Amino acid sequence: MVPWLALCAHMLWPVSCPVCGAVAELVCGPCLRSLFRPQPPRCLWCGELAPCKVHKDNPVRVRVGAVYQGVMKDLILMLKYARYEAIGFQIGEALGERLTRPEADALVPVPLHLRSPRRYNQAGAIAKGLGSVWDIEAWDVASWVEDVPSHAGMGAAKRLSLSSEAFAFNEDISGLRVAFVDDVCTTGATLSRLARAAQNHGAEVVGAFAAAHVPPAY
Ligand SMILES: [Zn+2]
Ligand SMILES: [Zn+2]
Repeated sequence: MVPWLALCAHMLWPVSCPVCGAVAELVCGPCLRSLFRPQPPRCLWCGELAPCKVHKDNPVRVRVGAVYQGVMKDLILMLKYARYEAIGFQIGEALGERLTRPEADALVPVPLHLRSPRRYNQAGAIAKGLGSVWDIEAWDVASWVEDVPSHAGMGAAKRLSLSSEAFAFNEDISGLRVAFVDDVCTTGATLSRLARAAQNHGAEVVGAFAAAHVPPAY
């Protein structure tokens, strides 16, 4: 059985923390916090280690809480595929305690893809947890307007050529300071496209956050 399925089965009976084994906890707060190891910040625009040489005039960073592996990966897979939405809020809370609060008016989660069968936005659940710790509104205001494939494996040149018109904003975001939230950052291309779209709509982009990233492809 693949690890995350084993974890899900284990959690059906008895429910216990996958880290310390404490019963009656999906995952306990201290154990969840212990999983976070903030990663070196990256440039939101190009994905290079920050500060990058190219975007000195508009330095915006992506902050990531952990590497996408082990129990952290299992928890995110449960959040995405096993309908444990509540874990997203807990992940967001723990992430918010480990990372520095941005001076933002709103935390905007990366929206679900147009064809996603999911009934909730996992990035939105994380944004709500982050927002509760940072006292910033989580605002699920963006939506995809383009049915796009994954950006995984795309080179830097290719991802920079991607249009920012893939996103629409359902409310007026002009004049607001916004930060973006995703569950897993792979190439960083989705976050940078969303950020450029927000700039095109008059927002000031002040940061981006992800619970975990996949470092080799990033
Ligand atoms: Zn525990
Ligand atoms: Zn850059």
